[in-house]
Amino acid sequence: MQMRPHHHSMRVLAFTVDLDRDCNTAVAGEMAAVSRERGRSVPPRYSASAEGMEAIADMLRSHSLRATVFAEGDTLLSLPDASVLKGQELACHGMGHEDLTGGHSGLVPDDDELRGIIRRSKEAVSSRCGIAPRGFRAPYLNIDPRALAHLGEEGFSYDSSITAPVVDGSVTPWRLENGMLEMPLARDKDSEGRTMDSYMWAMHEGRRPEEDYLGMLERFQAGALVMATHSWHVVESVRGGRRTKGDTAAQTEAIGRVLCRAQDLGFEVLALDELERRISADR
Ligand SMILES: [Zn+2]
Repeated sequence: MQMRPHHHSMRVLAFTVDLDRDCNTAVAGEMAAVSRERGRSVPPRYSASAEGMEAIADMLRSHSLRATVFAEGDTLLSLPDASVLKGQELACHGMGHEDLTGGHSGLVPDDDELRGIIRRSKEAVSSRCGIAPRGFRAPYLNIDPRALAHLGEEGFSYDSSITAPVVDGSVTPWRLENGMLEMPLARDKDSEGRTMDSYMWAMHEGRRPEEDYLGMLERFQAGALVMATHSWHVVESVRGGRRTKGDTAAQTEAIGRVLCRAQDLGFEVLALDELERRISADR
């Protein structure tokens, strides 16, 4: 992969939501993911994801913010009302939350299978939302050069599956060999020197306070900070199961406060398609 930094002067926050099956996990030897419930694997369910998407979309609208939603095909097709996604950027997250590298499932899809997964996930977004998706995030963030090559061949403009370290307060997207942009998630050190990711998993599982993410914003000086969450995670947690309505609201509001702080700090809050357009216009 060729590293070519862009836009050292910009300071962008891109908020992204993975809209996927509730509390998903891979099964050894299976392509599609299942859900987890009280530590057990159960058939995939989608209701927490749909509810969480509604809560997050309401929050985004109330702040007039646009985010990128990486929609898994099966979850998207099962949404009772796709109009909840109106105004957000829709991008792809597999069809059945497939493990593209076999890193979790132990099952490596061959080239035909990879192509099929990518095409079906694209069709799910275009049939349900009427747009051609530009971006992709791999389930479990499991990506490799072969999957990236397929994404390029299927016409995707960017990927957001890699996690890159924050160096000198900065992460910048880079151009892959096939011309796609990589819009990486970020890995930073918190104020105590412990590794933390821009994925808000730890906050939703009660392992990190919201303040840690505010600190991440304050340390970030230039480039594009891509933050992420799962739609289901504001409605249930892996450790605690289904949340109360009040807890769902609290989780959603915590995300909102992080995004508002970013704006207060002078970040531009943009969806990834807009960031991609800016970078490409500037080449
Ligand atoms: Zn996922």
